[in-house]
Amino acid sequence: MYRTLQVFVEKGIVHTIPTADNSILYALCKDNCEAGHHHDHHVHFECDHCGTTYCLDDVVTPDIKLPAGYSSEQIDVVVKGRCKACEK
Ligand SMILES: [Zn+2]
Ligand SMILES: [Zn+2]
Ligand SMILES: [Zn+2]
Repeated sequence: MYRTLQVFVEKGIVHTIPTADNSILYALCKDNCEAGHHHDHHVHFECDHCGTTYCLDDVVTPDIKLPAGYSSEQIDVVVKGRCKACEK
């Protein structure tokens, strides 16, 4: 199961979502991802109330300024709070 999903990640079909408890969630990519190169640099949202994790496809990961000599390959941003469904 895990291996299969890892292959999908490499093929640009799904991407990983980091979670607080160190388990890995996977979400389907939008169609602009390619094998070996993901373009979906969006923020993820984790609802404290219902535990659902969302892909916020329209919210772009902010650029992080790194000190000289460091280069980033991936920036994972997970916002925690209360989702739309739980806000009511
Ligand atoms: Zn992707
Ligand atoms: Zn919720
Ligand atoms: Zn996502």
